[in-house]
Amino acid sequence: MSARPSTGDLLVLGGGLTGLALAAAVGGAGWEVLVVERDSYGRMLDAPYDGRVTAVARGSKLLLEALGVWPGILPHAEPIRGIEVAEGGVPVEVRYDSLEIDGEPLGWIVENRRIREALLARVRRLATVRLHDGEAVRDIRREEFMVRLRLASGRRLAAPLLAVCEGRLSATRGRLGIGARRWAYGQTGIVCTLVHERPHRGIAVERFFPDGPFAVLPMQGRRSSIVWALEDELAAQMRGLGDGAFAAEVAERFGDRLGALRLEGPRWYYPLVLVWSERYTDWRVALVGDAARGIHPISGQGWNLALRDVAAVAETVVERLRLGLDPGEPAALESYEAWRRFDSLALVAITDGINRLFANDLLPLKLARNIGLALVERLPPAKRFFMRHAMGMVGDLPRLMRGEPL
Ligand SMILES: Cc1cc2nc3c(=O)[nH]c(=O)nc-3n(C[C@H](O)[C@H](O)[C@H](O)COP(=O)(O)OP(=O)(O)OC[C@H]3O[C@@H](n4cnc5c(N)ncnc54)[C@H](O)[C@@H]3O)c2cc1C
Repeated sequence: MSARPSTGDLLVLGGGLTGLALAAAVGGAGWEVLVVERDSYGRMLDAPYDGRVTAVARGSKLLLEALGVWPGILPHAEPIRGIEVAEGGVPVEVRYDSLEIDGEPLGWIVENRRIREALLARVRRLATVRLHDGEAVRDIRREEFMVRLRLASGRRLAAPLLAVCEGRLSATRGRLGIGARRWAYGQTGIVCTLVHERPHRGIAVERFFPDGPFAVLPMQGRRSSIVWALEDELAAQMRGLGDGAFAAEVAERFGDRLGALRLEGPRWYYPLVLVWSERYTDWRVALVGDAARGIHPISGQGWNLALRDVAAVAETVVERLRLGLDPGEPAALESYEAWRRFDSLALVAITDGINRLFANDLLPLKLARNIGLALVERLPPAKRFFMRHAMGMVGDLPRLMRGEPL
């Protein structure tokens, strides 16, 4: 316990995938970062696999390379060579092939625990980053030039800017007076791992059914991750099924392209809620990642979007610090908010819209989406645009997203 506060250039509250990436970015550029995480990293690293995987888009990989984190992730990453999208059980309607862009993978599937390990290994090597894990915040005080945290252990930390990276259920967001709207999708995300007889050849499959979308994501070996967003009531029925009966339900939707299927490990159930913060900044505070907005997992874009926040906030902070300017003053925060708000809104609208469109069985909507899918398939420039968007490679990209150092 220290009597004098530790002072840094940036305080990060919440050391999950987003908070650690932000610490790696700002700390890696040579500035002092203080991270507070309520869970203990020792316990997190020892915990068994929790079924969570992330589709890391190509733009995110460039950022992770620039942060020196990618070499720790690559040995655990399965490249995505193609994506097939279809409605219901119909054969493929749109096929995205990496060969249509430049032959490089469209993205990579990685278990979240492997990403966390790689990020932690990186920030632990940085003398500029101090991790305070297994710590609760007792008190937050915002002054004219500083934010001050008092932790349950008695430690005191201070910096000119607080980045809140606590995830979509962030309690600090409300505590600081930033409202957030929530919409329950009425769906539960069922996540599990399948072992299959035939190789997946790096193809990710997204199938849309009226009761919810169903994704099969290629993992290392003959394994795939299932992310199945299903109406709450049906998801509750699935919970009651044994592993064999559940695998049969999966096979019924997915077909036999991968041969015989069996479940590996447990199934996890995540209630799906859209969270939209009324603003991303407040006095000396920036919301980053899911704390700013949490989207539907249908597009596998949540953390990819979070990394674009990380890149924008890190660039803003580091540029100002280099010029001897205050990184937490309103002008800096306004520039971050303006940079990120549109991209977030677009993704919320896209993922929410796709989910509603495909969840509806009305004939006109059915026709419209069939025409839409067919058009995308037949118009290569439109298709390339969608592919580049999904890979996180369009828009006003911060330097790190282009793979350039800060
Ligand atoms: C089923 C499912 C599948 C998904 N698939 C993908 C995918 O394929 N691709 C993709 O990009 N995204 C995906 N996502 C989204 C992705 O998981 C999130 O965007 C990502 O985890 C956000 O990271 P975060 O660090 O912002 O928040 P979180 O992961 O929620 O981490 C928040 C951290 O803050 C800590 N914390 C919270 N409160 C406090 C506090 N008061 N004090 C200190 N610490 C605190 C927590 O312990 C935690 O470590 C998926 C999500 C779901 C539900």
